[in-house]
Amino acid sequence: MIVRQFTCRGITSQLCPRLTEPRTWVRQDMARPSSDLAAFREVFSKAKHVAILTGAGVSAESGVPTFRGEGGFWRKWQAQDLATPGAFSQNPSRVWEFYHYRREVMLSKSPNPAHKAIADCEARLRKQGRSVTVITQNIDELHHRAGSTNVLEIHGSLFKTRCMSCGHVAVNYKSPICAALEGKGAPDPNTSDAQIPPHELPRCEQGSCNGLLRPHVVWFGETLDSDILTRVEEELDCCDLCLVVGTSSIVYPAAMFAPQVAAKGVPVAEFNMEETPATMRFRFHFHGPCGSTLPPALARHDTELIVCTFTTLLCLS
Ligand SMILES: [Zn+2]
Repeated sequence: MIVRQFTCRGITSQLCPRLTEPRTWVRQDMARPSSDLAAFREVFSKAKHVAILTGAGVSAESGVPTFRGEGGFWRKWQAQDLATPGAFSQNPSRVWEFYHYRREVMLSKSPNPAHKAIADCEARLRKQGRSVTVITQNIDELHHRAGSTNVLEIHGSLFKTRCMSCGHVAVNYKSPICAALEGKGAPDPNTSDAQIPPHELPRCEQGSCNGLLRPHVVWFGETLDSDILTRVEEELDCCDLCLVVGTSSIVYPAAMFAPQVAAKGVPVAEFNMEETPATMRFRFHFHGPCGSTLPPALARHDTELIVCTFTTLLCLS
């Protein structure tokens, strides 16, 4: 039931930055969250259903650009300029160049220790009859590539397409995605638009449809997939431990989900670079790059924990 109130009125996409203003929050527990690793591991060892919310911070540690914030430009635009239905209808060639570039960039990126720790944790706990569900706003599939199988991609995927005519969603790892985009998509601000005619952009291959394809991602101003949200709701209803990794708790989706889980008394542990007013509502907070803080927290046993902690100390020194 946790997210039903949001699903009913329709959640807009990642570009709805603050669904909950910090000033409206009521601090239920003024005690600072703990950064006691042993205490977290004690809670973790007993959890049967672990929900892990992940965001841009996890991808950033793999070098995945976000095209947002200071310096985050593709040519002279940022994501919020191009990742919109309006931008696509006005200039599908430019938007496809942008996404083609992002797809190609991902070929050179790899999962980092945070992705791997989450995937290893899922595999290990599954053998024990326990579950791990990743709820991610990232569209780069790095969780899948790390080995996670139970992943809810609430913002879609760079590697899926959706037909503008028939609505068919397809997995697509072609490189380039179509011949006309080969060698296109350069991010340099002096690069001219390729101005590819629509009939040469990616087209639907379902029967004789041939409709124009778009990336199957949630664009700014669009609503999230209700089926995915229903599954998120189910996971958050049954989880007995929630991790917030690489996303601040004032930015969607953690702003919606994690505080409500915490309000039920379920332990929430945050792993990110910053504290927010919501942090005070959580049981744990581990400050730093999640590629350093998460592996020791989710380590299999004490020997692995010692190795992870030693590696973390090396990284931080
Ligand atoms: Zn189609």
